[in-house]
Amino acid sequence: MNRICFYDTKPYDKKYFEANKDKYGFEIDYFEEKLNSKTAIMAKGYEAVVAFVNDTIDKKTVDILYENGVRLIAMRCAGYNNIDFKAAYGKIHVVRVPAYSPYAVAEHAMALLLTLNRKIHKSYNRTREFNFSLNGLTGFDLHGKTVGVIGTGKIGRIFIDICKGFGMNVIAYDLFPIKDSDIHYVPFDELCKQSDIISLHCPLTKETFHLINEDSIGKMKKGVIILNTSRGALINSEDLLSGLKDSIIGGAGLDVYEEETDLFYEDMSYTIIQDDILSRMISMPNVIVTSHQAFLTEEALSNIADTTFANLQEFFLGSSLSNEICYQCGKGEACNKKQNGKC
Ligand code: NAD
Repeated sequence: MNRICFYDTKPYDKKYFEANKDKYGFEIDYFEEKLNSKTAIMAKGYEAVVAFVNDTIDKKTVDILYENGVRLIAMRCAGYNNIDFKAAYGKIHVVRVPAYSPYAVAEHAMALLLTLNRKIHKSYNRTREFNFSLNGLTGFDLHGKTVGVIGTGKIGRIFIDICKGFGMNVIAYDLFPIKDSDIHYVPFDELCKQSDIISLHCPLTKETFHLINEDSIGKMKKGVIILNTSRGALINSEDLLSGLKDSIIGGAGLDVYEEETDLFYEDMSYTIIQDDILSRMISMPNVIVTSHQAFLTEEALSNIADTTFANLQEFFLGSSLSNEICYQCGKGEACNKKQNGKC
């Protein structure tokens, strides 16, 4: 029987994987530990490991996995910025789930925007204490406002449709604009200047690292709302905090945070958080932080389990890997455009 181990398992992951596993006949062991160079040894005896967004799959981790017989890393997520592909290339195949529910993430981005703008988080707490005052709860109509969408892939495009449903004016920036679409693309600086709301839907790459920084924030409209459901390091958090303190940024809805790895997905309510930037932002009335939960819908979890199992089955049958992320482009870039062995 093919043996697989899971890292960073939570009860909600296990539920959907257990429900889908019977038809594949894999033997699965679930570890709660995150995958990193200290825990990689636990994979001894397994040919495939299943990993997630906050695992640290650096060279040291890859080497230990390889030395202990692992030949496949199956990411149960879309993003893959936490993997050293150079280290894995030629040794361990890496597959992912390229799409599981772009709706889940796009809808969460809109939930953050609606909550922030209409101050639902404040009114929820007030009415629970029978405080029915409206002071300080004024929002604005989304209708007619300009939203700037950065990254018009699967999630960005759905977010655009949702925004259009609200009667918003949508502008977008993408390194690879979709040809012949009705999306109104503008240069990045122009998007910063014109947008009342900016939502990030691009991957974390060398080019997008700290895309939102002091310089870009300086070009934005006073009061702009920033939404990040992509990856934390798209934003320089220190610069975001300054922008919030200076009231240039009117609000931030963050599902991801650049230093989230040791915090998100865990109950830290009895811990003194050492991260002053995150603590300060969480203390602000116009910041909402969710714990990388945008993907967390029944549909997404079920699709993640299905595609991950299909990826594992292809590997164990020796078939070509439809969702392999290859490393052939040099310059440290992961390339997922592999076709017939060529990028
Ligand atoms: P996608 O690959 O379909 O789309 C990404 C888009 O970003 C593409 O159109 C691409 O051309 C564009 N892009 C690439 N580099 C760019 C750059 N330098 N500047 C501007 N645009 C650039 O990906 P997707 O499925 O829409 O997912 C988007 C991101 O959402 C993922 O990278 C992932 O990090 C994040 N995500 C988060 C969650 C969550 O739970 N919070 C879940 C899934 C995905």
